[in-house]
Amino acid sequence: MSVSRRSFLGGAAAALGTLGSGIDVFAQNRQGALAGAPGQRPSMDDYDSIAHLSSNENCWGPPESVLKAMNQSFKYAMRYGYPGGDVQGELAKHHGVKNDNLLITAGSGEVLDVVGTTFLQNGKKVLGVEPSYSSVYQHATSIKSSAIKLPLNQKDHRQNIAAIVKTANERASEIGFVYLCNPNNPTGLIVTKDEIKQLLDGLPQGMPVLIDEAYHHFVDDARYATSVPYVVEGRPVIIARTFSKIAALAAMRIGYAVAPAELIQKMRPYSMGSVNVAARFGAVAALKDAKSQAEIKARTIALRKKVTAELDAYGYETIPSETNFFMVSLNGREVQPVIDEFRGKKVAVGRPFPPMTQHLRVSIGTEDEMERFMKAFKEIFPAKSRTTAAG
Ligand code: PLP
Repeated sequence: MSVSRRSFLGGAAAALGTLGSGIDVFAQNRQGALAGAPGQRPSMDDYDSIAHLSSNENCWGPPESVLKAMNQSFKYAMRYGYPGGDVQGELAKHHGVKNDNLLITAGSGEVLDVVGTTFLQNGKKVLGVEPSYSSVYQHATSIKSSAIKLPLNQKDHRQNIAAIVKTANERASEIGFVYLCNPNNPTGLIVTKDEIKQLLDGLPQGMPVLIDEAYHHFVDDARYATSVPYVVEGRPVIIARTFSKIAALAAMRIGYAVAPAELIQKMRPYSMGSVNVAARFGAVAALKDAKSQAEIKARTIALRKKVTAELDAYGYETIPSETNFFMVSLNGREVQPVIDEFRGKKVAVGRPFPPMTQHLRVSIGTEDEMERFMKAFKEIFPAKSRTTAAG
């Protein structure tokens, strides 16, 4: 029996009692993707009236195969020791690693927190770039640690691997781990496989590196590769992956870490170990539905190319992204008032990413949402009137 989106959502809401309790789509909390500012949740109608281009979600939602698997899992909703679809075994097969190389978490945000808690003890700091996915840095602050943040290359906004290696060696005793988001959020730019090798070969022996591959599935550039093979080699590399993006399961909360067994062992005590039954079954189905993921990738990239070409032609340069979001230069305007203007037009766009405060991050939404974005953009940034020789 096929599961319609509507029947799935009805079942899910009944079982979990969560849908419609709302997410503040404009709240900018530490995760960015998850709202949760207490009290400030919109009604379902408000939520549905907004174009959601702020959190790099997969706007098309999970495919039938995944909805069906999740719906079937609800018969275990009242249980603690529920079956899990062997998500760990399926992931081990998928990546060619062992079960003890994996830690399953409630979203990859939990991996980032767990890595912070594990490796930032005794005053150690995280080393990374800015702007990047700042959750890691915010978590460091919350546990009374801190971050050493290096700037992106001024000209092309890429991560400066040589500078990371240099700082890691000069300040090795201060550093608990290195954080690298690849492709980077918010720029959408990749670190190439050669640069990853340069980084891993150049760091002090044994220094852990957290490589956040949340947007891995959207990359087309042949110079990019996953860093999972370095885990198999036994390097101190922790890969963070999520089902929130290509698999469209952001609200279900499931992600995982791939790392050498001894690092997973150190991390496990800090993980909640609590991933719900629907997320587990949905994730297994998503792993098996490569066709749907390929379709989402193609659709996302086609829309991204269309919108960025339109913006470029309109005189607003975009950064060449390899993800389901992109950044556009606001030609010298500060981003926060622009975000507020979009908000007034019921279009939720990305938060500010200091120090790139004259760029706007836009997630790829549906065709309709992207049209609403372009219409709002042209209202906020009217085309410059041309001066003629005669005039
Ligand atoms: N890493 C990056 C780079 C992200 O952009 C996000 C969310 O937007 C996450 C991790 C966390 O995602 P989740 O906890 O939903 O897996």
